[in-house]
Amino acid sequence: MIEIKNLTVAIEDKQILNGLNLTVNDGEVAAIMGPNGSGKSTLSYVIAGKEDYEVTDGEILLDGVNILEMSPDERAASGVFLAFQYPLEIPGVGTMTFLKATLNAQRRARGEGELSTPDFIRKVNAAAEKLEINKEMLKRALNVGFSGGEKKRMEILQMALLEPKFCVLDETDSGLDIDALRIVSEGVNALRAKGRSFLVITHYQRLLDYIVPDVVHVMSQGQIVKSGDKDLAKALEASGYAEYRTGEAA
Ligand code: ADP
Ligand code: MG
Ligand code: MG
Repeated sequence: MIEIKNLTVAIEDKQILNGLNLTVNDGEVAAIMGPNGSGKSTLSYVIAGKEDYEVTDGEILLDGVNILEMSPDERAASGVFLAFQYPLEIPGVGTMTFLKATLNAQRRARGEGELSTPDFIRKVNAAAEKLEINKEMLKRALNVGFSGGEKKRMEILQMALLEPKFCVLDETDSGLDIDALRIVSEGVNALRAKGRSFLVITHYQRLLDYIVPDVVHVMSQGQIVKSGDKDLAKALEASGYAEYRTGEAA
């Protein structure tokens, strides 16, 4: 369903991704692990369409269509969702207002009509219930004063509402306590479905105890250098990344 072929990316003339190949099948959760500086975040930003990255070769096919030729908004409309490591706090913007604007922007980009307020509220309530999110939280300004765990719940709620085909979580576990980790994992597991694939990027194996991946890939120096099942993550936990060169070495 997602095919990344020969992806070659530079930042400021420094090549970061070196002909990366990766397939994520329909309904699959693929984990990417790897040392710091190996290019994991670069991959997630390039998928989302963040500027500053120069793609010099390769393609990213979502259901056969190269998303590299799309704007970030078009990618989101096609079903790409990137969960950020550090969610934004937006004072003065109510959470419901933000969610409705996000959802309707996606619908407009898809050529669908905007949701009426009652339809939107029904949809949010259904998603919040499924994810066991306290509706009081939805009455506050977006992420302002939210605990780490609440921000994560909000992100998972956004993900549920946007019904993405391809979700990328880049080190969404970093800095989370065990409860927040459980929230994210339960949310992801609740959203696992046919027609939806996940790329879970993490430096640590711990997250993968909760989100059990179908496949584990190791990234080093801008390439996938090893692939296996969930036991590969366990082996890495035991051995560390010493056998893989880090991108940070001079
Ligand atoms: P990871 O997420 O695996 O830790 P990154 O994708 O963040 O790796 O970084 C890969 C390499 O790209 C590192 O060597 C990093 O220093 C470099 N890099 C990342 N972002 C930039 C940038 N904006 N400008 C210059 N170099 C960058
Ligand atoms: Mg890093
Ligand atoms: Mg990173």
